[in-house]
Amino acid sequence: MIHFQKLWSSVSATAGPPLPPGVREPRESREGETPAEPHAREKVSTTRAAQQELRPPVFEPGRGRASSCFAKLLLLLLALTTPSFAQSLRRHDDRPTIDLQKAQSAGIERYTSQGLILLTDIEPDKARKLVTLIDQVYATWEQQLGPLPAARDKKQFQVTGYVMRDEAKFEQAGLVRPNLKILHGQHAGYEFWMKDADYDYYREHLLLHEASHCVMQCLDDGLKPVWYLEGMAEFFGSHEPTQTGLRFGILPASRQASPGFGRIEMIREECAAGRALSAAEIIKLGPVEFSESRTTPYAWSWAFCTFLARHPRFSADFRTVCQIWETEPFQKAFEAFWNTHEQLISSEWEIYRDSLCYGWDLERGASVLKVPTGKLQIEAARGWQNTGLKVTSGQKLTITATGRVVLATATKPWESEPQGISIRYSEGRPIGRLLGAVLREEPATEGTTRHWEFFNIGPSATIEPVSAGTLFLRVNDRWNELSDNSGQYEVQVTPR
Ligand SMILES: [Zn+2]
Repeated sequence: MIHFQKLWSSVSATAGPPLPPGVREPRESREGETPAEPHAREKVSTTRAAQQELRPPVFEPGRGRASSCFAKLLLLLLALTTPSFAQSLRRHDDRPTIDLQKAQSAGIERYTSQGLILLTDIEPDKARKLVTLIDQVYATWEQQLGPLPAARDKKQFQVTGYVMRDEAKFEQAGLVRPNLKILHGQHAGYEFWMKDADYDYYREHLLLHEASHCVMQCLDDGLKPVWYLEGMAEFFGSHEPTQTGLRFGILPASRQASPGFGRIEMIREECAAGRALSAAEIIKLGPVEFSESRTTPYAWSWAFCTFLARHPRFSADFRTVCQIWETEPFQKAFEAFWNTHEQLISSEWEIYRDSLCYGWDLERGASVLKVPTGKLQIEAARGWQNTGLKVTSGQKLTITATGRVVLATATKPWESEPQGISIRYSEGRPIGRLLGAVLREEPATEGTTRHWEFFNIGPSATIEPVSAGTLFLRVNDRWNELSDNSGQYEVQVTPR
């Protein structure tokens, strides 16, 4: 159980934007931050949900009901605690009037769209692409955060961004606020400043990141947790082209599609170095951690927010929480969300974190919890699948599998039987191979916490789990290549 009292008390102002991959920043060179709001530290209370210690009936067929229970609970909670919730107004638009002549004489041009006034000295073709980004991301903001609170001054939502190649020009034009030290980017009110980036993708990512802060912090009522604000700014920053425009809040498909992003490599490096963070550790990342590193806390927060926002078991409930604009009710709602889902979040996070790759398929890779009825069939296009079989520590189980699955359809169908095909590997084992895992009743806690115990099975094997828990099976494949799989193995499990 997380101690939220302690957790929320560490809430402070958000740090600046992330550094590009590979760039390490010494602590003392941290850029200026807005001071923490003292009253944010006092807004702590234990919710009814927390007091009741809601535990999801995780591995039972009726598990799906927990989601609607959570939503009802949350509505009740909000009704009881926030009579003024619907009347929240966003902060006054205090952006200064730009002296365009002065800006232009310094070599800075202005570009305008509905959601953004962009002042920049970068090439016009790049600037014209940037200025449309806010209008494009707006729908995703509203989808995830709900409709923006109404404006105190009835103005339409718009931000002003300064994208600077030569910062001296902006200082000369009086466009940089005094005392604002900009390492890579900074936001204040409805304005943000950022240095130009080497890559088009990363320039767009940073702009979306900073503008998302302006949106998420548009109420003057204290600050939400840093891991959430930074993780969600990163979530909205990640984007990819579609046939009709851009899609936001994605796991980039490849390194080539997201030059300069590098968060996936950072997490892989951290895991390889034995510094993997659990879900419970991520939600404790606070101002201190974000001040000590401008790389890994951002990477963890991004990966975790994307996981919560895109995992089919949590996305709806997490969105309900994200749509609470006011800080105190948000904190209570997150607490209830965490207490409802902690166990499942922790075990699912472990699978995703330890195999994180470009394009990790959260939709298909999420574990299947429903207990099967009739024949036990393990689908090639899904992640870990519940067999419904409870095992005890030291119990022997013989598992045999037959059948044929398709693992790819491009060029020619790649077919496999339960032993797998050794022309391609995933996590050290042939793709197509039947694998097993016991989801432990009690996670192992020597060193890092481990919720799963894994087994190499193939067409036939006898396993002897160390831990008591529930048996899961899957057909091995890369986690970003599940969408073209089909077919299933028929499996028999015989306890000895
Ligand atoms: Zn940020």
